[in-house]
Amino acid sequence: MGKKPLTKQQEKFLEMVKEDRPNAVGWFRKVYEGGKSRKNAMKMACLRCVWFNREAITQCGASECPLWGFRPYQDEGEKVQNANKTQTLKL
Ligand code: SF4
Repeated sequence: MGKKPLTKQQEKFLEMVKEDRPNAVGWFRKVYEGGKSRKNAMKMACLRCVWFNREAITQCGASECPLWGFRPYQDEGEKVQNANKTQTLKL
């Protein structure tokens, strides 16, 4: 599978990231181009949502967000709890 061309919005977003978090530009670019996993895309979505504040992701209380149970940087106990919920939903 070839690289997907970036949209204007994605290019614009990368410019903003470049100013604040230049080391994250490559990660976002790879996700946009389709070269990263779904798991990485979810991680980048959370980092974008709270503008790279990892603690805010850990503390995120927006349980209505579809990514909430899958978000990165969860406390270990919460991660186990959410993994069990996922297994329940698969039944
Ligand atoms: S889980 Fe929280 S940090 Fe992640 S995208 Fe949803 S609201 Fe944002």
